Amino acid sequence: MDVDFYRPMRLNYQNNALQDEIKAACDTDVERCLECGKCSGGCSNAHIFDYVPRKIVQLVKLGDEDRLMHMDALWICVACHLCVDRCPSQINIPSIIDYMRQKAYRQGIRAERTNIELFHELMLGLVKKNGRISEAPLTISFNLKSKQYLKDAGLAPRMFFKGKLNPFSPRVKDISQVRRLFIKNPRLKEV
Ligand code: SF4
Ligand code: SF4
Repeated sequence: MDVDFYRPMRLNYQNNALQDEIKAACDTDVERCLECGKCSGGCSNAHIFDYVPRKIVQLVKLGDEDRLMHMDALWICVACHLCVDRCPSQINIPSIIDYMRQKAYRQGIRAERTNIELFHELMLGLVKKNGRISEAPLTISFNLKSKQYLKDAGLAPRMFFKGKLNPFSPRVKDISQVRRLFIKNPRLKEV
């Protein structure tokens, strides 16, 4: 029997430009999606996503670029890769989200949630400076800049005494390697 018989259905026969673009940019082929939903079931943030991972893959297949670039999930995916670990077809959904977020950002589309952009900038700034993220400096600078002065004030001492919070911001041994990543990868200069 012809193996092509088993190929998953392509949802958009007319225009698969976005699907091809994602394949080239993210090295992931959404046509391999089996629609099993394991990605959505395992996603750590699916409960607050407007489009769950399985639907994001379907939107790529449909070529619905506009909906993808305006979805809230673009800004709140934590890149934990749980969806990739669960996917039988190894579809790299966080890479798709990352790519679409940068594309949206270049076109002037911003998150509707307050302070998301500020958080991204502070987080990337810390990575560039120290090569890693430290919770305490990130939280303090975020709360100060977003004028939420007392937010987390009650939580911090408890976390500190349980050894969950380091007030210092240690730097990785060879920071020059991280800095080179920023110079080499123009995508890191953006969001
Ligand atoms: S990487 Fe993003 S989409 Fe995937 S499981 Fe984590 S939060 Fe969900
Ligand atoms: S786990 Fe993979 S194959 Fe299953 S729906 Fe999600 S992306 Fe598609």
